[in-house]
Amino acid sequence: MDMQPTVPALQLSGVAISFGGIKALDGISLDVNPKEIYAIIGPNGAGKTTAFNIIGGVYQAKAGRIFFNGADITRLQPHAIARLGMGRTFQNLELFSRMTVKENLMAAKHIHTRTRFWSEIVGTRGVRSEEEQAAEDVQNIMSFLDIEKYADASVEDLGFPVQKRIELGRALALRPSLILLDEPAAGLNFVETRDLSETIMAIRNDLGLTVLLIEHDMSMVMSISDRITVLDHGEVIACGAPEEVQANPKVIEAYLGKRRSYAET
Ligand code: ATP
Repeated sequence: MDMQPTVPALQLSGVAISFGGIKALDGISLDVNPKEIYAIIGPNGAGKTTAFNIIGGVYQAKAGRIFFNGADITRLQPHAIARLGMGRTFQNLELFSRMTVKENLMAAKHIHTRTRFWSEIVGTRGVRSEEEQAAEDVQNIMSFLDIEKYADASVEDLGFPVQKRIELGRALALRPSLILLDEPAAGLNFVETRDLSETIMAIRNDLGLTVLLIEHDMSMVMSISDRITVLDHGEVIACGAPEEVQANPKVIEAYLGKRRSYAET
């Protein structure tokens, strides 16, 4: 049988960057397969946020290459990478707090609507239907995330867990093929984290997205991830399925050395 090799959804090859004298990433490589839930973990200062910023085009790698669905994105700017279908959430939610939930999601769509320029000039029927399409998409996203009931509420009046869902919705509004989640469980309690885990699984299972996350909540990471890469001091010290990574002496050492055990997180 003729098996085509799968093109990784995301591939990092020898990616390095330094700040001053510090090698924040010292040549890291990893492959994320399509529809995988993949986590990057590691003690504080390991380089996780730097890796996300390099993948999303916020920082430029000093060495190495990054491929997204086979395309070289190493030198692309964040908006260009987003347009290729990479969505992202931020730890410090990037929401318009005085706008409603629906307005926030519509705004996220508009940033990426290519024909907007023309709509302002011509105002044709085609454009109106694009507007209707956007509204329908936003409706679907709200229903998927179970935040429909807050559609017309102002974001600032809603609780933190709901705001985190809206942030997820903003990233989904782009219709990405891959989504980067920056500490999605930060600030959530046990039940909220469990609900979020289900949502992340549904993003993969029902929407068919690839998910890459950074997360400190080990029970969440271990329960939802297909594979995990562990960073320490800017280097990959382990990569594999949750049970392999958990049993790896280098990983245990890295966490205990930083006095941050699984039990604590
Ligand atoms: P945490 O779990 O605490 O968020 P992290 O794994 O995300 O940590 P990074 O924030 O990527 O780690 O930091 C990796 C190293 O690079 C650290 O030594 C950090 O101080 C340094 N660093 C990161 N960003 C910058 C920057 N913009 N300027 C200078 N140093 C930086």
